[in-house]
Amino acid sequence: MQHFDGNLLAGALADLLAFDATTARARCNGCGSVGEIATMIVFRSAAGTVARCAACGQVLLTIVQTGERTFVNFTGTGAIEIPRD
Ligand SMILES: [Zn+2]
Repeated sequence: MQHFDGNLLAGALADLLAFDATTARARCNGCGSVGEIATMIVFRSAAGTVARCAACGQVLLTIVQTGERTFVNFTGTGAIEIPRD
């Protein structure tokens, strides 16, 4: 099967990432519950931001910002459901 490099994803990802992310729904890898990102329990400190599952407390995502970059980790999130127009 022919394959391509990641540049083929540019258009699809640009479409996916241009939305209000808080309306997307995420599945927790810890308990399986699904909820809008807006319902996550969020803690912010100088080190970064941590969002936890409102049902079980599992870490769903972390965001760390440095001077030049932003690091996002969705390890605790099994899937993200994005509403389509
Ligand atoms: Zn959970």
